[in-house]
Amino acid sequence: MATLSTPLGKVLGDKTAAALSETLGLATVGDLLYHFPRRYAERGEHTDLSALQVGDQVTVLAQVQRVNVRPMRQRRGKLLEVTVGDGQRTLTLTFFNQAWRQRQLTVGRWGLFAGKVTEFRGKRQLNGPDFQLLSDPGEGAQDNTEIEEFLGALIPVYPAAATMPSWTIARCVRVALDILEPPPDPLPEPLRAEHELVGLAAALHDIHRPSSWEARAAARRRLTFDEAFALQLTLVQRKARAADWPAVQRPRRADGVLTAFDARLPYQLTDGQLAVGEEVATDLGRPHPMHRLLQGEVGSGKTVCALRAMLQVVDSGGQAVLLAPTEVLAAQHHRGLAALLGDLARTGPAPADGELPLTDDSAGATGLALLTGSLPAAARRRVLADIAAGSAGIVVGTHALLYQGVEFADLGLIVVDEQHRFGVEQRDALRDKATQPPHVLVMTATPIPRTVAMTVFGDLSVSSLTELPRGRSPITTHVVPGNRERWMERTWARVREEVAAGHQAYVVCPRIGTDPTDEDAPEEGPPAEDERRPPLGVAEVAPQLADGPLAGLRVGQLTGRLPADQKDAVMRAFAAGELDVLVATTVIEVGVDVPNATAMVVLDADRFGVSQLHQLRGRVGRGAAPGLCLLVSEAAPESPAHERLTAVASTVDGFRLAELDLEQRREGDVLGAAQSGRRSHLRLLSLLRDAKLIAQARDEAIRVIEDDRDLAEHPLLAEAVAALVDEDRAEYLEKG
Ligand code: ADP
Ligand code: MG
Repeated sequence: MATLSTPLGKVLGDKTAAALSETLGLATVGDLLYHFPRRYAERGEHTDLSALQVGDQVTVLAQVQRVNVRPMRQRRGKLLEVTVGDGQRTLTLTFFNQAWRQRQLTVGRWGLFAGKVTEFRGKRQLNGPDFQLLSDPGEGAQDNTEIEEFLGALIPVYPAAATMPSWTIARCVRVALDILEPPPDPLPEPLRAEHELVGLAAALHDIHRPSSWEARAAARRRLTFDEAFALQLTLVQRKARAADWPAVQRPRRADGVLTAFDARLPYQLTDGQLAVGEEVATDLGRPHPMHRLLQGEVGSGKTVCALRAMLQVVDSGGQAVLLAPTEVLAAQHHRGLAALLGDLARTGPAPADGELPLTDDSAGATGLALLTGSLPAAARRRVLADIAAGSAGIVVGTHALLYQGVEFADLGLIVVDEQHRFGVEQRDALRDKATQPPHVLVMTATPIPRTVAMTVFGDLSVSSLTELPRGRSPITTHVVPGNRERWMERTWARVREEVAAGHQAYVVCPRIGTDPTDEDAPEEGPPAEDERRPPLGVAEVAPQLADGPLAGLRVGQLTGRLPADQKDAVMRAFAAGELDVLVATTVIEVGVDVPNATAMVVLDADRFGVSQLHQLRGRVGRGAAPGLCLLVSEAAPESPAHERLTAVASTVDGFRLAELDLEQRREGDVLGAAQSGRRSHLRLLSLLRDAKLIAQARDEAIRVIEDDRDLAEHPLLAEAVAALVDEDRAEYLEKG
């Protein structure tokens, strides 16, 4: 007998075990049994011996006519050759090193033989076929169900390697299953009963050798639940543990900068902003770190929520950092915060010890610093000194900031803006930056389907901003056929009209230049098809527009390739209305806020992902005037690419679009962020297909962790969780 941890060598022999280890990295019986079939071939009806085609998977009904065992010529071992026939034709079956099957395959027995047809020296044969011998007529009535069962069986097809074909794996699996001692089931019986999950032993058998599609579905469901459950246990456990970490309390003060800030805010906070503000303020006042996700549509006003949280921390003597995904966005945040704060912020260097502050006003002000990778060395030193001394109460920067040895005097809050792929790992890296775990607020405008929220962000509490601030204008989106001259003329005419009305416009291109190595390319778009022309680049499009359809307008360019100070200068000029049209790559995708911009033309729109387009168009319609978004594409009507664009044009419901996006994105991208890069323990789980299962698993995980946080009473579950978490991650959890 074997258990899941028995080495394969003990079960299959050293040679086969070595081959499985080399080709597929499988070491134990458990590894092998968790190497699931990729799909199943149906055995189906049996094939007439006269109709066999080389390469076909067939099942034949035939009678054993001759049996012969002989030593192999080329290698050691014995070959069992069985000739079967249907009365007219014959077929050879070969079994390598299974001479004992002679005893089963006696001359005269009828049976069903299934396998792949090969040819050897001009003769058709089946190598190592599956077979089912029919009861001897002498032993009683012929049982038809035997035949039916065999014919109905599903043949597993495994992810295979050249030297380790699927059928070899299938045979190894069969051997392992035959001697497997039923493994103990980590799922408690009542839980299994409630969710109608089959037992583990049955599931492991049926995922490999299902007798029907129903059996295989039940097996898959059970094993998928296991994956979802282990993942949720990890996340819920994490959340529970983190909730117990000590953190410095940063309670709201009535007489601080925050109160002064609220008093001078030029608009009224929406009810949603107020509610989120309360949640965050309460979290910050607790002696445990906040881990909160703030989710809200593009333009819903997350920045001011973040700023208010940061001010509360500053008021209590701590520092806050706001991390943006790009330098452009960091610089814009810095400007935006400075504008919002007015003289509540001091953006220059802090006065040295003994020096008088610049003005009386700035005495109560907080230092606001920008730290990006491209800062000149001297300025950088000064900013770093301010951060270390604590005089920079609010620091804005890119993520690079975290990995460059920046020392904070007293880091109390980390706000992460617009980082869709900001997984558990990165959050761990963040926490290492403070002596006590800081409070963490993650903000995202990409609405996250519930399942993704539960997995990628499963260890966070969630706040949502559902309403847009009043006075926000609707955005109209149209798909424009890029190869129709009249439509394109009209497109550029619309841009001119907006500019004539005193507004501004964006033109977005997929690339910096037509040189295929130019980066800034949309990362989420579908893979380029070979026959398509190269994507349009900012470097070519901008001058063409300036000399052609947009002649006379002030046209600027913004790409990731510009040096940071130039990028910043361009953004500033556009924000100040010194440019009419900004031709840009996706660097403007997130967060850029120029309310006077009302039109956006996206060229080669089919090269962008759905969420990306939604993000992009969120750059317009931010002011009093309605927004217009034109998605230009040469994709053929009815093509999937065109349908995607039509979908984007038809709704501004970010949740619907996020789901659409998820459907088109590879799962790995999403789940990859949920765990640390290796997907080996999540083989079946699909965020789309298994939404319900994930939700059930989460509820159960919460129930289990509530009573038994360290899974002391559930050792098997603890093992499953451990298997999901790799060494590094385990260390992180330990540290916590
Ligand atoms: P996002 O959630 O996409 O990050 P922002 O924080 O950039 O949105 O806010 C978008 C715009 O809405 C900004 O110009 C901001 O000043 C403005 N805004 C935020 N809150 C309100 C409000 N309550 N009333 C009016 N305008 C607001
Ligand atoms: Mg934002």
